[in-house]
Amino acid sequence: MEFFSEIIGETVILGLDSLVLGFCIKQLSKCKHILNALQTAPVLDIDGTLNKEINKYSNNTIPYVVIRGLVKPLGNPITSNYNNSVTGVVQRLTIKEHVIARTSAGFWSDQTRTIHEVYNSTPFVLNSGKYSIEVVDALAAELLDMDVISDKFEPMSPGVIDHVWGFFSGVRQRGLQTMEEMLRDGSYITAIGELSRSNTGALKIQPPKDGLPLYLTTATKSSLLKRLASNRDFLRVLLVMVCTVAAVASSRIAYKLIKRRRRRAVEDSMKKQLAAGRRERRAHARERNLADVQLCVVCTENPKEIILLPCGHVCLCEDCSDNITDNCPICRERIESRAPAFIT
Ligand SMILES: [Zn+2]
Ligand SMILES: [Zn+2]
Repeated sequence: MEFFSEIIGETVILGLDSLVLGFCIKQLSKCKHILNALQTAPVLDIDGTLNKEINKYSNNTIPYVVIRGLVKPLGNPITSNYNNSVTGVVQRLTIKEHVIARTSAGFWSDQTRTIHEVYNSTPFVLNSGKYSIEVVDALAAELLDMDVISDKFEPMSPGVIDHVWGFFSGVRQRGLQTMEEMLRDGSYITAIGELSRSNTGALKIQPPKDGLPLYLTTATKSSLLKRLASNRDFLRVLLVMVCTVAAVASSRIAYKLIKRRRRRAVEDSMKKQLAAGRRERRAHARERNLADVQLCVVCTENPKEIILLPCGHVCLCEDCSDNITDNCPICRERIESRAPAFIT
């Protein structure tokens, strides 16, 4: 317990570090998995050859595929709340609160909190000429690139009371940001996901089954690969840093453990030396030529010097008493305490 308090700092660091380590390893393996899948994913055009391509795969399903096409709504498109001439298939409305908050270190810093977020979507396809592929579950996409249609910031003008309140609460309002983003009708995007053909011959692209993400992005396959590779490199660097911290913390614990063992060993040998010295002094002071009845029942050499309690037997010399800790050698009663006996 006493030793634990010595290494509590290192233990806490090691605990937190292992959490980050777990997170890093998980993210890294996920990133590598996506990277491998994306590298081997075929890039297909939306045209008459698509059906032939699908025929090569079992269940009429290509597990991960890259497809580019124009966004086209299946029904009525969504009209922008802020610009009547803009229509789209996915709409995101967000309201963010901008505040200046006092951090735990005592500094004031700009912070943004999303206080409201709404998605609207309508079924749509990726189109090229007379061919099209329905995009299913677009809101589940890990990456959904949208155009910003409107971005307004309304500053708040705080009064005296707001200033005083802000000083004590540690949060000062700056204003509200209202933003509208849309995946616009007619935009040219890359969809990466699972492509399948139903019995009716309709094609659809949707989130893949084995944990791979669906992407709906304006980026190309190669730029997405670059982005993922740089994520992977960052995670690798982080992993090395986390491992270094773990190694330093563990070696500090090991160092303290060794130091403690050495300290104990020195203390023990000191105790033994002192005990040996005491025994020697006792030997010099002892009377010789005692009757048998006056001798210790264990070594039958030294005089009886110790009374065992609670039984009250005086049967041991001090040297033997050091080694007998459990029961009285005469009556076998448990020894609870002992005291020097003076027989005159
Ligand atoms: Zn003895
Ligand atoms: Zn006894």
